[in-house]
Amino acid sequence: MPFVELDPEIVWAAIEGYQNELAPEQKTLDAFYRQFACRRCGNKCRKEVVGKHAFGDPSTLVPRSLLRCEICDYLFDPHSGLEVEAPKPPLEAIQRSSSK
Ligand SMILES: [Zn+2]
Repeated sequence: MPFVELDPEIVWAAIEGYQNELAPEQKTLDAFYRQFACRRCGNKCRKEVVGKHAFGDPSTLVPRSLLRCEICDYLFDPHSGLEVEAPKPPLEAIQRSSSK
């Protein structure tokens, strides 16, 4: 099915007068995510949206994210604390095992 983009003027007219309910909630969630660092190596994490998890909480209007470490790929849920994907082994460990 082809995707037909709506005329922007029609879109703006349709939402005119309504309050943006999503932006404040997204801002709060982003502030929540910024307080986390990778539990394994302490580096910066990026948000990752996973379909089944994103709207798992019926009380939220915006999709929730998991956090993935930019260095070791460790993936965890900052909302529940659950580990979703184990971190990659350090590069040195991979090189050591392949040189044996
Ligand atoms: Zn890490």
